[in-house]
Amino acid sequence: MREKIKNQINKIPLLRSLKVRIFLLLMVMGMIPSYVTRTALLHNYEERAVNVKISEVSNQFKIIANHLLTYNYLRDTSSEVINAELNQISNLYDGRVLIINSNFKVIKDTYGISEGKTIISEEVVKCFKGENTTYYDDKDGFIEMTIPIMDSVTENRGNEEPAQIKGVLLSSISTDTIALTISILQRKAFVLEVVMTILILVMSLAISQFLILPFKKVTGAINDVKEGFTDEAISVPDYEETQHIVDAFNKVLRRMRTLDNSRQEFVSNVSHELKTPLTSMKVLADSLIMQENVPNELYQEFMTDIAAEIDRENKIINDLLTLVKLDKTDGEVNIETIEINALLELLMKRLRPIARLKNIEVILESNRSVQAEVDEVKITLALSNLVENAIKYNKENGWVRVTLDADHQYFTVMIEDSGMGIPEESLEHIYERFYRVDKSHSREIGGTGLGLAITRNIILMHRGMIQVSSIEKEGTTFLVKIPLTYSK
Ligand code: ADP
Repeated sequence: MREKIKNQINKIPLLRSLKVRIFLLLMVMGMIPSYVTRTALLHNYEERAVNVKISEVSNQFKIIANHLLTYNYLRDTSSEVINAELNQISNLYDGRVLIINSNFKVIKDTYGISEGKTIISEEVVKCFKGENTTYYDDKDGFIEMTIPIMDSVTENRGNEEPAQIKGVLLSSISTDTIALTISILQRKAFVLEVVMTILILVMSLAISQFLILPFKKVTGAINDVKEGFTDEAISVPDYEETQHIVDAFNKVLRRMRTLDNSRQEFVSNVSHELKTPLTSMKVLADSLIMQENVPNELYQEFMTDIAAEIDRENKIINDLLTLVKLDKTDGEVNIETIEINALLELLMKRLRPIARLKNIEVILESNRSVQAEVDEVKITLALSNLVENAIKYNKENGWVRVTLDADHQYFTVMIEDSGMGIPEESLEHIYERFYRVDKSHSREIGGTGLGLAITRNIILMHRGMIQVSSIEKEGTTFLVKIPLTYSK
């Protein structure tokens, strides 16, 4: 339900603005009290004015009722004093007075219309029973009331004996004066309300504009950063909320700067790495050009070196392309259920010739048969890099042992070697692009510094992990752990 209302509100373009919402809220909050106050006051006034009128008129009529008895008016309506009194009071209150005797007969009507008629209305009957009635008709603007004409002696006896009601004074008086006052008040209230509305409107506009200012500052500060990309963090401490926003933005900014720095570093590393083989080729070629009558053997030797440098350049470019592809197609993997034992056997078979050059013994130990959901090409590349490193950074007559194992959730591949090991301070850097412990040695044996970065990328893609432990001059152990079932 709340969602529905929210969606509906968001569909109105104007209501999507916080400023408009604050403005409307202030307007409503300003207008409602003024409307309620006006209505309540006018209603209160009307009620009070009617009550005052009723009590005033009923007192007057009570006095007249007494006079009626004194002058025995119920039997003889010729008394001029009473008639004058009745006319005067009906003129004064702009009303009509009827005197009804105990036979329900109208003996006097100040309008002179109903005299002699019989009136048996509810009010009159009630009044004869001792109940005074008053009725206010606000639509037609009159008050109707009945006053009993009681024997004053009987009346004074109180409740001991029922009062003897000799007749009823039925009157209706106009409330036009009250209505007039109300309409004047209403007009004044309306003018006041219009003035207040204008005041509230102006204030709401100003306040909503003012309250929104810090958010404008946030936008301005963010826009400035977009243009300048300076190092400093932005701050808009006007509200806690705006500070939260800019804090979050600063965090993103820091991450972007770090990314930008590492991108720049990567680009400069790539340029440097690509330039090194080119410089070698240039030196080799120049020295051939500058010499005259170069012997054939020297040509042969230099050209062989140039070809080696071209191979190296090619390898760097290929590794870079692999890395870029892995980055770009993050998550795009070709998953199949693969027998890892067979995969490792094939991999070892391919690498054995390189190991043989240094007379290194390569051993594969499969503790159990393992089937797992992996991208065959990528996992082969990742594990090849590790076994190749174990051979490359090994000593003559050394050994490399690859052990495959699994539990119900993961399979593990451990690659141990008897090589030169990795210094402790280098361990945290080996997965960085182009990082090599010994640059010249690595170059000699054809390393690009990209192998472990590629390997780590592939393993993370499979939601796996890689660990390394090493003792210098003794050897290195890499442990790869990958889930048997692939999850995105
Ligand atoms: P490279 O192409 O230079 O081998 P890698 O990313 O594969 O690059 O490895 C990074 C560096 O880590 C290597 O240059 C090497 O110094 C070190 N390294 C990797 N594996 C081993 C290992 N098994 N034994 C000793 N050093 C290793």
